[in-house]
Amino acid sequence: MSFAKLGLTDELLKAVADQGYVTPTPVQQKAIPLILEGKDVLAGAQTGTGKTASFTLPLLQRLAENHDPHQKPRRVRALILVPTRELAAQVYESVKTYGAHLPLRAEAVVGGASIGIQTRQLHRGCDIVVATPGRLIDHVQQRNINLANVEMLVLDEADRMLDMGFLPDIKQIMALIPKKRQSLLFSATVPNAIKLLATQLLNNPVEVEVAKQNATADTVSERIYGIGREYKRELLSYLIGSNNWKQVLVFVRTKHGADRLEKQLIEDGIRTVALHGDKTQGARNKALEYFKTGKVSALVATDIAARGLDIDDLPHVVNFDLPQVPEDYVHRIGRTGRAGSSGEALSLVCPEEAWMLAEIEKLLKRQIPRVADTGYEPVSLKVIDAPKKNAPNKTTGKKDYRHTKKPAARGAKSTVRGAKQSDSKRIESRSKGRPGSRGKA
Ligand code: AMP
Repeated sequence: MSFAKLGLTDELLKAVADQGYVTPTPVQQKAIPLILEGKDVLAGAQTGTGKTASFTLPLLQRLAENHDPHQKPRRVRALILVPTRELAAQVYESVKTYGAHLPLRAEAVVGGASIGIQTRQLHRGCDIVVATPGRLIDHVQQRNINLANVEMLVLDEADRMLDMGFLPDIKQIMALIPKKRQSLLFSATVPNAIKLLATQLLNNPVEVEVAKQNATADTVSERIYGIGREYKRELLSYLIGSNNWKQVLVFVRTKHGADRLEKQLIEDGIRTVALHGDKTQGARNKALEYFKTGKVSALVATDIAARGLDIDDLPHVVNFDLPQVPEDYVHRIGRTGRAGSSGEALSLVCPEEAWMLAEIEKLLKRQIPRVADTGYEPVSLKVIDAPKKNAPNKTTGKKDYRHTKKPAARGAKSTVRGAKQSDSKRIESRSKGRPGSRGKA
């Protein structure tokens, strides 16, 4: 299968070849011909599957087919809505890259960037807008943008948009764009809330499903380290230092946890930067840049901050905290083992998180292998009393645990406490390889 067989024009084939892509990925093979035909599409595809090109290439082609060079100023004919600024930046880059040989103009409209500059650029006119919902609505209210000529709508990472509470914004935006349009909805997972949204936004959609591909990518090796919570940081520093990892993405649950771990890893001599929602856009861009260029080896991120980050060939992902929403585990490990490269996803799981691990394995329908000897006293990861699920969240349709008390696993406390003595011995025997013990910055 080649890109030419999908019906793409020479300008787009050239752009694809410029990127060095030879074979379309499964989601590209399925979605591109359907979108070129003008069909509405509901696609279950995660980051890493090549989903961005699967909607961007045909979108560009369809716009280019009916492009009127005399139309001044340009009208917004395509709207791509995404949940985060980082994803907006990546999609915008993709639109520019793939559209390099076409006469179309795109703008990114995201929060955190200067509204004045965006306003001027919008007034100049553009064909494609890549936007996060909140900032787009700001511009609509200030009459900087007119959505009455939108012919194509894309919702990317729609499940995440619902998780982030963007449904009311999405509905507000939908009311402003013409009913007669082509709509594409991309989502890593397709829970009922997404199906419901699809019935409201899409017209007779064709469903494309490739989500499984990345969910349990064979190229990713996953392992669980059962360990007391208080030893996680030490183990992480040890793993990074002794294996000399140059690029590891570490997931934590909270912004505060991200800042704390950043500080601790730096104290252990590991070049680290934290990425979370409280950082300014400038700080976020810098963090990402440092990580990509190897100035730092560890990026500590929350799920929302990490969502959609396009970091190629990421070799190591560590779940420092397990995610409370099992689907996020799949998103997280989707950061590694992309496009055929091999990757490693390690999870440091303490007894208090045993129930989350059980939920994740239930979703995956398989057991994640445990590391037999972690170097620490073994802990029990047996769930004794799983928390009751809340009623499904009205917006997302997901059942979450946010308001429930998390139970400890059987014998959790005594096992962890009992571990202390022999732990320090084991750690001592390892201390040669630990970056902390080297005392280097
Ligand atoms: P995405 O799922 O859109 O985040 O894409 C994941 C990565 O795959 C990006 O770095 C793309 O540049 C890359 N990619 C997309 N399509 C292809 C392809 N057909 N062949 C090789 N790499 C690709």
